[in-house]
Amino acid sequence: MTRRPTFPAQLGAGPGPGLSLRPSAARAAAPRPAPQQAAGMGLDSGAVRARMVAKLAAQGIGDARVLAAMGEVPRHAFVDSALVNQAYEDTSLPIGLGQTISKPNVVARMIELLLGGHCDAQGRLGRVLEIGTGCGYQAAVLGRVSREVYSIERLRGLHDKARDNFGPLRLTNVHLLFGDGMVGYAKGAPYAGIIAAAGGDAVPAAWIDQLAPGGRIVAPCVMPGGAQALVVIEKTPSGLQRSVLEAVHFVPLKSGIA
Ligand code: SAH
Repeated sequence: MTRRPTFPAQLGAGPGPGLSLRPSAARAAAPRPAPQQAAGMGLDSGAVRARMVAKLAAQGIGDARVLAAMGEVPRHAFVDSALVNQAYEDTSLPIGLGQTISKPNVVARMIELLLGGHCDAQGRLGRVLEIGTGCGYQAAVLGRVSREVYSIERLRGLHDKARDNFGPLRLTNVHLLFGDGMVGYAKGAPYAGIIAAAGGDAVPAAWIDQLAPGGRIVAPCVMPGGAQALVVIEKTPSGLQRSVLEAVHFVPLKSGIA
């Protein structure tokens, strides 16, 4: 089945299912509803998301917690209105200021790796730190699999954008912070998981200091040859365990704020 979903050419960056207009309200709307009204599109966005989730599972994402979270968060509410019809394709998309939202497969893969660390009896992570909020999409997904999320962004414009995107969604356990994530966020430490959406030459020492025992860091890192790879660092009783996984392409981790 390769039929292209008809959704969501006219769908604005509005709320997802459960938050969209009821069908009766949709029927009462003008013949050409304003983009933000997302009239009657709630169900369609759920169906398109379900197809994205099926594809993720076929690509090897096996963790039910990740698949459920990816099926719940309305990715279309995090991208610019001109790009909503690509929101559920497995592609990265521009989010402004030269930055990108990662492809769904990469978001799912990284969160699956993070969940390999210490979780509570319900299978949830405790506190998580995300470096690189961007549009806020991954932070929202993390919020579904963690007790609490702190997400830091160094670009004021994107921090504000994420805040706007969060507006209609009730994401009470996700805290958006403006600052330099290279130094982590000591006030929220220790973290069960730390995940970076930008790649530097090394994993900053602050992240390792702020990681709880049994916790994991999942981050892109520049390797000696110059290419980036996904790195997982686990804090075990016998010390730090570092694994280098597949090649990835993330925006650079930069210091300072702008
Ligand atoms: N997770 C994001 C992906 C955003 S791209 C999403 O779902 O949209 C990575 C982001 O990392 C960019 O917005 C970039 O500005 C940010 N970034 C880079 N270095 C950073 C740093 N030191 N601290 C905080 N954010 C940083």
